[in-house]
Amino acid sequence: MVTELIAVGTEILLGNIVNTNSAYLSEKCAELGLAVYYQSVVGDNPDRMKRVIKTALDRSDVIILTGGLGPTEDDLTKEITAEVMGFPLVEDLHTKELMEAYLKEYEKNHPQRRITKNNYKQTMVPKGSIVLDNHNGTAPGLIMEKKGKTAILLPGPPNEMVPMFEESVYPYLRKKQPEIIYSRMVKICGIGESQVAEEIQDLIEKQTNPTIAPYAKTGEVHLRITAKAEDEKKCKEMIKPIVRELKKRFGKDVFATKEEKTLEEAVVDLLKEKNMTLSLAESCTGGAVAARIVNVPGASEVLMCGFVTYTNRAKRKCLGVKKSTLKNEGAVSAKCAKEMAKGGAKAAETDVCLSVTGLAGPGGGTEETPVGTVFMGCCCAGKTTTREFHFTGNRSRIRGQAVAQALTFIRDSLLECGE
Ligand code: ATP
Repeated sequence: MVTELIAVGTEILLGNIVNTNSAYLSEKCAELGLAVYYQSVVGDNPDRMKRVIKTALDRSDVIILTGGLGPTEDDLTKEITAEVMGFPLVEDLHTKELMEAYLKEYEKNHPQRRITKNNYKQTMVPKGSIVLDNHNGTAPGLIMEKKGKTAILLPGPPNEMVPMFEESVYPYLRKKQPEIIYSRMVKICGIGESQVAEEIQDLIEKQTNPTIAPYAKTGEVHLRITAKAEDEKKCKEMIKPIVRELKKRFGKDVFATKEEKTLEEAVVDLLKEKNMTLSLAESCTGGAVAARIVNVPGASEVLMCGFVTYTNRAKRKCLGVKKSTLKNEGAVSAKCAKEMAKGGAKAAETDVCLSVTGLAGPGGGTEETPVGTVFMGCCCAGKTTTREFHFTGNRSRIRGQAVAQALTFIRDSLLECGE
C-alpha cells in the first residue's frame, strides 16, 4: 500500500521546528509494511494545501497528515481535506463532550483559560469519518475513507500525535495491511563499503524477500536484512539463514547482529569477557576514542584511564616516548605509536593500551607525511603491533575515521590475543 506523509505547518517550512512527526511515522509505517514513497511539508495556506492533498490522494493509497487541527483560523487541515474528498462537516457530540470535559479539567489548573467559540470548531468532523479520541489535547484525530483512498489526520504536537497513533491508527493500519516488515542488522567493521558490496553481490542480485541493504557509517558497514511476512516469527525464520551466511562470509569482522549494539559496546563486552583492562594514549583524536568507550554504561569496569598527549613533551612525560624517536622518526610515526601504546599500558597498568598519533590537518602535511596519515599502536597482553592509515577528508572526517579504526584495532587485538 503506497503511503504518503504530509506535515502541515509554516513553522516547519521556516525551520523553526524539526519535522520529527514524519520521522516517527516513517519508522512506524516501515514496521507495518507500508511503502512510504513520498513525504511533503506544506504551510498553512489553503491553495497550496489543496494542491498537496490532491496530488497525494492521486498517487498514494493512504495519506497521513499531521498538524493544523487546532482551533485557530489558520488550522485548516480538516476543512481542506474534507473539501478535497467531498465530505461535509457535521457536529460530533461525543467529541464535544470530551472537549468540554478536557477543557474544564484544564481550567482548574489554568483559571485564565476559558472555552472559546473557536474551540467548538474542533467538534465539527467530516460526515462518516472515524473520529479518534485525543486524551492529551482537544483536537480529535480523523480517518476518512473514499473510493479506496484513506486520509488520516493527526494533531501536530508529538505528545498528542504519538499516543493517538499507537492507540488507534496503528491497529487500524495493521488490519488494512496484514503483512509486517521486520528487519535485522549485521554490522561489520574493518572493511570498506565497496568491498562488502562486492562480497555480497550475488546475494543482492538474487534478493526479493528478504532484501539486503548496505549502509556505510564512518569505519563501519551496516547490512539491513528486511523480510515481509504475516508475522514476526515467519520474518525471523526468513532472515536467519541470511544472517548465518553473512557471518560466514565476513567472519570476525561482524561485530554485532543487533540494531542497537555499537562498536564501542562490542569492544567493552570483549574486554569484560576476557577480564582485561584498557587505557588509551591519544594525540590527534584528543580523547575521542575514550569518549566513545565512555558511551557504554558500565565502561568503568574496563577503562582505567585515557592520556591525551598532544605535545611531544606530553608524549615523553606521560608515556615515556623516547626523545630520539621523536627527533629521528617524528611524532607521527609507527615507532612513536608503538612507544605510546607500550608506555600507556605501563603507566596505567592495563592489559591493553591503544595509541593514536597522526596528522588531522588542514596544515602541517609534507610529501613524506601528508595530512591524513595516522599511526596506531596496540599493546595487548605484552605484545605491541602497529597500523598505518591514510585517511581523506577534512579534519573532523579524518579524526572520525581514526576513532572508528582505533576501536576496530582494539577489537582485532583482543580477538587475536590468546588465540
Ligand atoms: P494545536 O491544537 O496545538 O494547534 P495542531 O494540530 O493545530 O495542534 P499545529 O498547530 O500545526 O498542530 O502544531 C502545534 C505544535 O505541534 C507545533 O508548534 C510544534 O511544536 C508541534 N508540531 C507540529 N507539527 C510537527 C511536526 N511535523 N513535527 C514535530 N512537531 C510538530
